[in-house]
Amino acid sequence: MGKIRLENVTFSYQQQGVAGPVVEDVSLTIREGEFVSFIGPSGCGKSTVLRLLSGLSRPSGGRILLNGREIAGTGHERGVVFQHYALFPWMTARDNVIFGLRQCPGGMTRKNVSAMADRYLDLVGLHDVGDKYPNQLSGGMQQRVTIARAFAMDTDILLMDEPFSAVDARNRMKLQELLLELWRKGEKKKTVVFVTHDVDEAILLSDRIVVLSACSKGIKEQIEVGLSRP
Ligand code: ADP
Ligand code: ADP
Repeated sequence: MGKIRLENVTFSYQQQGVAGPVVEDVSLTIREGEFVSFIGPSGCGKSTVLRLLSGLSRPSGGRILLNGREIAGTGHERGVVFQHYALFPWMTARDNVIFGLRQCPGGMTRKNVSAMADRYLDLVGLHDVGDKYPNQLSGGMQQRVTIARAFAMDTDILLMDEPFSAVDARNRMKLQELLLELWRKGEKKKTVVFVTHDVDEAILLSDRIVVLSACSKGIKEQIEVGLSRP
């Protein structure tokens, strides 16, 4: 259950100095389990679209439907990984992942939650850092904990805003592979909406690329890429 539909969505920031809407008349359907990337020049509204999908902002016009129902605020069906959405610094890596697990409704015992968190840390290659705090980990490791936390959350939808932009090229490739692997193997096929300014990254990861236009503030074109993927 991760179907997303945008109907004539428009958004303007209230602050002075921003002329006109940042997102204008965007209509789009994202299928359940689909991996869609948004690309486009800086400032074209990619992050804004993601904030709208997360429920952190509300459309000024049009509407956004999740599984046929208009979204109201942030919800537990959506996991969020933002570029600067860091880990909770006062929690160990394991507790950060446990926080993700706690977002899911099914009652889990304390022991199960901890074992599950370790399983996800293991999946991202961090089996031995569960007790470390974020500031004791490298940037790339922190990012992997964020991914573990996002996948541990029992959500149908994963929203990712340039999650790998702070990571060097070599580690970025590893994280991209890891993300695809988790997405393919996951117990639940998540719908992923991924924002990036890296075209190669979008081609590698996505079923479909949505190109936002800088000047007209709408969708410029959509490219299906999934067929070329192994
Ligand atoms: P992108 O993610 O594609 O770089 P954004 O969605 O971050 O684009 O921003 C789209 C436009 O909205 C930009 O012109 C940006 O300056 C403006 N903008 C973003 N956030 C705010 C804000 N909080 N207040 C006013 N304008 C904003
Ligand atoms: P909700 O009320 O559904 O939990 P929130 O907006 O509080 O919605 O959070 C949405 C998701 O973003 C949460 O499930 C959580 O995993 C994550 N989140 C919220 N706050 C933070 C934060 N400060 N740092 C990292 N992740 C966070």
